Order: sequence, then structure tokens, then C-alpha cells
Amino acid sequence: MSSKIREYPGSEVDLDALKAGSVLSTGYRTTLRYSWTSGVAVSRFLDGLKEGELWARKCNECGRVMIPPRMYCEEDFRPTDEWVKVKDTGKVNTFSISYVNNDASRREKPIVVSVIEIDGASPEMGILHLMGEVDPSEVEVGMKVEAVWRPKAERKGAITDIAYFRPRRK
Ligand SMILES: [Zn+2]
Repeated sequence: MSSKIREYPGSEVDLDALKAGSVLSTGYRTTLRYSWTSGVAVSRFLDGLKEGELWARKCNECGRVMIPPRMYCEEDFRPTDEWVKVKDTGKVNTFSISYVNNDASRREKPIVVSVIEIDGASPEMGILHLMGEVDPSEVEVGMKVEAVWRPKAERKGAITDIAYFRPRRK
């Protein structure tokens, strides 16, 4: 818990409260059946992650190097031109310290979610990821960071092939 927040207002709703009916709730069974194609640009990006590489697309009209990559430049209304391999280092563009899990339960230790501007890509081009090996109170905008990759055998072409970003050491 941060030094500024001593106590959360209200009370947490947990599974026991739902089962006991002590809070208003409704139940339904969803039928979520869909598939999503990652497309040409993101497929290449995801393949690169398996190799420990970050690939961006460059538009030769405006000169921007975009990551995550896209095949079309929304500034120039034309296809982008070439693949550019960028570094696995960057700097913190923005970040959030979260005390809430993705199931809305509360965390004792926070996670830090950050947008990382990737070195070699254009300013403000970046990817959303976790911070690690750093005290949340020490994270700041502009902090230089580097990717910590999962072992190659564990990579599967997902953004989680990068375990997290940590303050830069090299
Ligand atoms: Zn462009």
C-alpha cells in the first residue's frame, strides 16, 4: 500500500459475499466464440519476439518508425515501407502503480504498468508492459529501461516473451 493511501474506502466484494447473496448480483453464461487474426504487421512482430527481437515499421513519407508495427500510416494515408529492427531498451513514457488484480481483487504488493518508448522507434511510439526489479516508488517518467526476456525455450510469440522491463544496466 502506498504511503499516501492508508485505507481504502468501502468494502471489498469477494466470492463469499456473492455466494451468500449479501450483494446484488446476476449470473449468466456467456458464449464467447471468436478468433482474431493478428494480421501481417503484428504477426511479424510476434515472430520477432520469439527471437528476442523487436520489429517496427517505417513510413518513408513522414519518417516515423512505428511500434507496434502497422502496415498503414494514418498520418499519410499510405502503406508503410519497410521493417526496422529496434532495440529492446527504451524509457518510461508513462506508468501506473496498480493495487488491483485483473479480477478486481486487491493486491498487497502493487504491480507497475508502463508504456515504454522503444529506442530506435519514433518518440512516443511504445509498448505497454510491466516493470520489474524496481521499487514502485522509484519509477519515474523518462527512466531508462531494458527488456528482460524469458528463456528462448519458453517464448511463444507473445508480448509476454518479455517478462518485464527493468531499470537499464547496460
Ligand atoms: Zn507516414
